[in-house]
Order: sequence, then structure tokens, then C-alpha cells
Amino acid sequence: MWIRLSEIPPQGVVVSTQTPLKQLGLVQEEWWADGPLRVQLLVTRDERLIMVDGDVGATLQFHCSRCLKECSYPMQVEVHIVLAPEGEEASESRSQLHAADLEQLYYRDDGVETNEVVREQLLLAIPMRVVCRPECRGLCPSCGRDLNEGACGCRESPAAPWVEQLKRWRPK
Ligand SMILES: [Zn+2]
Ligand SMILES: [Zn+2]
Repeated sequence: MWIRLSEIPPQGVVVSTQTPLKQLGLVQEEWWADGPLRVQLLVTRDERLIMVDGDVGATLQFHCSRCLKECSYPMQVEVHIVLAPEGEEASESRSQLHAADLEQLYYRDDGVETNEVVREQLLLAIPMRVVCRPECRGLCPSCGRDLNEGACGCRESPAAPWVEQLKRWRPK
């Protein structure tokens, strides 16, 4: 949703949508979404600054990075950002941002596209690797069997040399 600075009323603009990932240009091979993103944002202004607060919820689908099975990953991303007009060196804006201890982001063309904000915030929050459960045993590196379904009978990784030596010293 495109929101123009000059059209933001004192109480702000509420953005409450269900947005398909495709609409955000977010279709990846590593993950995809189960249903749309739930977007709840409040867009307000302070002079020439635009504030975007709220949250974005989504259930993403991943392949487990250990066993490669599909798994769900529910996400709730909190959004709290302040955007200043691009190219404007307003010291006033800067001190306000500094006071709020927020990273400085910019908007262009007198407004903000909330889909862009959502896209960026989501990309920052998505983990590189997801496991289906913490105790997932993954696949055997030799035969590829899913070790969650039982041992595969492959030799375990070769013991370190000191273990072999220790065995030899042991009394019979
Ligand atoms: Zn797994
Ligand atoms: Zn194996």
C-alpha cells in the first residue's frame, strides 16, 4: 500500500492486510509461505519523518537443513522503523532519529510503500537455516538414510588415533 506523507492524518494510517508472498516478489527456492502474510501496521508522521510500527506474521515452509524434510516455521516479526526523506540533510530529523536510537532509513517520492517495508523486515528476520526439531539427527553422510528413522549400519566416523592407542594399552 502506497502512503503519501502529506496524506497521513494525525492519528495515522492503519494497514491491515493479508498479503501473498508473491505480491512482495518474495518467492524463493529455500522457503515458501503457507498462506498469506498477516500485516498489521500503523503508519504515522512527525514533521517529515514517517514512522511504521506493527507486526508481520507468516508461516513459512522450509526444508529442514539436516534431514531435508518439509517443516513449518511460524514467524512473528515486529516492525519499528523511522524513515526520513531521501537526500534530505535535515539536522532536525537526524537528532530525532538519534534520540530514538533507531537506524536511519529513507523514503523516496514523498511517501512509503508498506509492502517494501514488510519485504525488507521479513528478509532480515528469515533465518538462513531451519531445523524441523532441535533433536533432528539428519541424514547419514555416507548412505543418505534419514537417521531419525533408525541407524543405517554405516561405519561410524573413524575414531581419532588416540582412541585406538588407548584401546591397545588396555589390559586384556
Ligand atoms: Zn530434520
Ligand atoms: Zn549410512
